[in-house]
Amino acid sequence: MRVLVVGAGVGGLTAALALHANGIAATVVESVAAPRPLGVGINLLPHAVRELTELGLGGTLADLAIPTGQMSHFDRHGGLIWAEPRGMALGYRWPQYSIHRGELQMALLGTVRERLGEEAVRCGWSLLGLEQEDDLVRARLRDRGTGAEETVEADVLVGADGLNSTVRRVLNPGEGAPLWNGIRMWRGVVEADPVLDGRTMVVAGSNATVKIVVYPISARTERETGRALLNWVAEVREPDAAAGAVDWNRAGRLEDVLPHFDGWCWDWLDVPDLLSRTDAVLEYPMVDRDPLPSWTRGCVTLLGDAAHPMYPVGSNGGSQAILDARVLAYELARADDPSKGLLAYEDTRREPVNAIVLACRDMPVDHVLQTVADRAPDGFTRVEDVLTPDELAGISSAYRRTSFQDAELLNTRPSYTVTPPA
Ligand SMILES: Cc1cc2nc3c(=O)[nH]c(=O)nc-3n(C[C@H](O)[C@H](O)[C@H](O)COP(=O)(O)OP(=O)(O)OC[C@H]3O[C@@H](n4cnc5c(N)ncnc54)[C@H](O)[C@@H]3O)c2cc1C
Repeated sequence: MRVLVVGAGVGGLTAALALHANGIAATVVESVAAPRPLGVGINLLPHAVRELTELGLGGTLADLAIPTGQMSHFDRHGGLIWAEPRGMALGYRWPQYSIHRGELQMALLGTVRERLGEEAVRCGWSLLGLEQEDDLVRARLRDRGTGAEETVEADVLVGADGLNSTVRRVLNPGEGAPLWNGIRMWRGVVEADPVLDGRTMVVAGSNATVKIVVYPISARTERETGRALLNWVAEVREPDAAAGAVDWNRAGRLEDVLPHFDGWCWDWLDVPDLLSRTDAVLEYPMVDRDPLPSWTRGCVTLLGDAAHPMYPVGSNGGSQAILDARVLAYELARADDPSKGLLAYEDTRREPVNAIVLACRDMPVDHVLQTVADRAPDGFTRVEDVLTPDELAGISSAYRRTSFQDAELLNTRPSYTVTPPA
């Protein structure tokens, strides 16, 4: 079986590794000619860390990433609303990691080249379109440097080509642009003194108005400098603005974001100072797409953001792409026919992931945070005076809707690696 994976992001590269681990040949085409470590921080939930660990990347993750110890929510005055452990402290056998998205992508790319060969990733080639005939798919590719075109045949084509996926457009013509919820995100990374215990993901404010998320993402920076590489995401509701370009690399301007955080300065974090010391600010509208009724046509399927782009509110973007990749490889390896394998993959993944897309759209945690802002606009001394115990517990159950499987289920589920016959 020859599988052509379109897109060398986190999802596509993990798919190549997972296919290889299950004895299936894969080639990846990537439109960027020379991938660089782009993006800022992302989170890998324990179920994704399990998959990368089973692919032999546990040591790489431990070397690059920060194991997230706790998630803490504050109001805009720095008052603690709620804190909950993360990763192994929740009973999982695998940690949750905060990691630089670009460093993760580069580590995956290096591993694919090492295991599958240099020629397994063809950078600088864009998918233009595809056709299916009988049990074969023909992909039209263009060399972005020379303009040369080439047709490549495969038994299976996997669209792991992200939010603006060409493969998704071929399968769902007329779908249109991503859907914006009116929240603009500015993002950046900056070296700083560790915040709180150095393992906490800090969330302050609410998406009804203004929110900031801050967490450390680099074990290397810690080792080499003793300081933290802090990832920050500032989220501001702009009901009357236009989304603008939906491009993860779009540059933002400090002067657009800084005024929203005037006075957000507590004894343990100075938000305006953090933002002001950031070299490169990025800007991105919080978008998703409506869940699809199917991902697969014949021998073509979708994976990761191409299949289910969602709001980045539950640490799911990279994590769900990694799970897709592992289930896809597992089902293809077990099936006697590739198209049956693709349908089995979709059967396992589509409904649960579509439910997460919708749960993220509802932003369940934010309902509670906004209640605090409404009832105590000038801050509070004791959160128990603001929220009932049930309302506070609502934060944990909200995270269960978007992010957390039952730990026991994950810890005991059989592996998605197919054991080769003896
Ligand atoms: C440059 C970049 C920066 C990002 N930064 C962040 C971030 O800071 N925070 C965050 O939460 N998420 C970020 N993301 C999104 C995050 O990586 C994804 O949500 C998640 O990792 C799932 O990844 P994916 O592999 O499905 O898609 P992506 O990571 O989007 O990867 C898709 C890949 O497909 C390639 N591609 C697209 N079209 C074609 C084509 N026609 N032919 C060949 N290749 C194609 C793209 O160049 C890209 O490498 C970023 C994505 C990108 C591409």
